[in-house]
Amino acid sequence: MSNARLELPVLQNWSCHNCGGCCREHLIEITEDEKRRIEGQKWTQADGVSMARPIIQKIGRGRYRLAHQDDGACVFLDDQGLCRIHAKFGEPAKPLACRVYPYAYHPAGRENLTVSLRFSCPSVVRNLGDGVESQRQTLATLGQEIVSGKKREHEPPYIHRGGDHGEQTVSWADFHQLLRALDESLAADDVHLVVRLMRTLSWLDLVEQSQFQTVKGEKLTEYLTLVTEASVKAQPDNDLPLQKPTRLGRTMFRLLAAQYARHDTEALVRQGWSARVGLLSAALKYATGMGSVPGLQGSASVATAFGDVPEQTTTFVKFGQLESAFDGRRADIDELLTRYFRVKVQGIHFCGPAHFDTGLVDGFRGLALMYPVVMWLARLRAARLKRTQLELTDVQAALATADHNFGYSPALGTMSSLQRVRQLAKMGQIKALTGWYSL
Ligand code: SF4
Repeated sequence: MSNARLELPVLQNWSCHNCGGCCREHLIEITEDEKRRIEGQKWTQADGVSMARPIIQKIGRGRYRLAHQDDGACVFLDDQGLCRIHAKFGEPAKPLACRVYPYAYHPAGRENLTVSLRFSCPSVVRNLGDGVESQRQTLATLGQEIVSGKKREHEPPYIHRGGDHGEQTVSWADFHQLLRALDESLAADDVHLVVRLMRTLSWLDLVEQSQFQTVKGEKLTEYLTLVTEASVKAQPDNDLPLQKPTRLGRTMFRLLAAQYARHDTEALVRQGWSARVGLLSAALKYATGMGSVPGLQGSASVATAFGDVPEQTTTFVKFGQLESAFDGRRADIDELLTRYFRVKVQGIHFCGPAHFDTGLVDGFRGLALMYPVVMWLARLRAARLKRTQLELTDVQAALATADHNFGYSPALGTMSSLQRVRQLAKMGQIKALTGWYSL
C-alpha cells in the first residue's frame, strides 16, 4: 500500500467544523481491536459517560457498535458536541469509522484507492475548509489503515448485466475511461446540469446495449467519443423538451423520495412498533400522493446546520403544491449538484462496493435519480417555509438529508428498491423526473 496511488476529488474542500452531527446520526460499528482498546480506556460515570447500559453493544457474531444516549447521540458525545475519546486520549484513539468520516475510500485498481466524500456532512455540502488535495498525506495514512490486512485485488464493478451475453466487464484502465467520460459529460457547464444529466443518461442507454468483449483500449476511446458526441448532438442546448412523468413514474418516485428523506437513528429504532406503524402510514400517503405530505423523522443535525425552524415540520404542504415550478435551474444550485455528482463519479461512490454492488450503468441511474429526489425534497422544504421559489439552502439541506442514505440505507439496497430504479429507467421516467423537478 505504500506505493498506492490515491485519487482525490480536486474540486472539493473540507474541514471539520465540530457540528457533532455525524456523532448523532451514525451508528458506529467497531472492530474487535477497537472494542478492546475502548474497554481498556476504563470509562466511568466520572468521565461523564453514562454507565446506565453497556457502552458497547453486540450486534451480531463478532460485530459490535458504540451505544447511544437517550437522544440518539453516541455515548461518547459530550454536551458541547465534542468527542470524549478525542478529548481524553487524542484523535488516533477514536474508532477508524469516526476518523474517516466524511471521507469514503473505494478500490480503484490493483494498488489504487479513490476517495469520495459524504454530503451528509454540512461542511462538505457547503464546500468549507481546506482543499482535499492539501490533505493528501493524512488521507494516505488513513487509507493505509483501511486496507491493512485486506484483500488487495479488486475487480472493477461490472458495466451492465448484458442480457443473454452475461455481465459485461472491462479492465481497470477501461473502467477509468468510462469514469472520465461520465465526469466530462457532467462537467460541460455550457448547458444546465439537467441537460448534462440527460445527455449522460442517453449515452449510458447505448452503453447498456453494447458488448465490451472486443471494445477495449483505443476502440473504447473511439466508442466513447462517438456516443458522447451523439448525446450532445441530440441535446445541443438548454432548450429541453418537457416530458411530464407518468402517474406510475411519480408514484414509484415518491416512494423512493420517502426512503431518502428518512433518518433511521438509534433513537428511532428504540421506538419499536410505534415508529414502524408511523412509517407504514407515511409510506401509504407517499404512495397515493393525496393530501398533505407526511413528516418523516428527518435529521436533527441537518435541521440545525441549515437553520430549519420548528414550524417547518408542522406546516401542511399538499403533494400537489410540489408539482409547480420552483425556479430550480439556477447557477448556484447547478454548482452544488455538479460538484456532488462529480465527486461521486470520481470517487467511484455510485456503483460496485460503494452502492450495493450495482454495475456502472445501474449505479449511475441510481445516482442520477438523486437529482429529482433532492430537488423534490428542496421544494418540500421551501413550501413548508411558505415559499414558491427555491433558495440554495433548501437544496443544501435536501442534499445532506438524501446523501445520508445514498449507498448506505439498507432499504435502498433491497432487490425491490434496485428493481424500482431499473424499472424507472426502462419506462423513461428517470429522464422525465429529472426534467420535471429541475424547473
Ligand atoms: S466515538 Fe467520538 S467521534 Fe466517534 S461517534 Fe462517538 S463521539 Fe463521535
